[in-house]
Amino acid sequence: MKLDISKLSEDRELELSEEWDALAFDLNSPGWQYAGPLKVQIKAVKDSGIAKIKASVQAPLELMCSRCSKTFSHVLNETFDLVYALDLSDRVIEIDEGIREELLLNYPTKILCQENCKGLCLKCGADLNEEKCKCQTRT
Ligand SMILES: [Zn+2]
Ligand SMILES: [Zn+2]
Repeated sequence: MKLDISKLSEDRELELSEEWDALAFDLNSPGWQYAGPLKVQIKAVKDSGIAKIKASVQAPLELMCSRCSKTFSHVLNETFDLVYALDLSDRVIEIDEGIREELLLNYPTKILCQENCKGLCLKCGADLNEEKCKCQTRT
């Protein structure tokens, strides 16, 4: 996504939107897969030598719980701010990488299907959210 500096103004937001293909932007990661395109929208204004950008990203996700391995759907809905110093020798600011980095930084380190997912039994592999396995009752 390219921001045309000449179109930036101080009092009117410049709006841009794009659809991203998660594969093309290399955004899938283990347990975190996109089930459709990412809707990326930005609003940009100029403010004494810098471009202030508000980005919002929405996308359908297919996640895998890191405890019980169940897959489930989720909708990504994130907004974040980006700031770029305006260099008058540039005509455009390329902001894809900035948005991509923000997205990757916000990936959770642990994906859980529910906050207190009990996970799988280490001995028999039973899903402890759904059943109490024999290994447990024996202890
Ligand atoms: Zn789980
Ligand atoms: Zn068990």
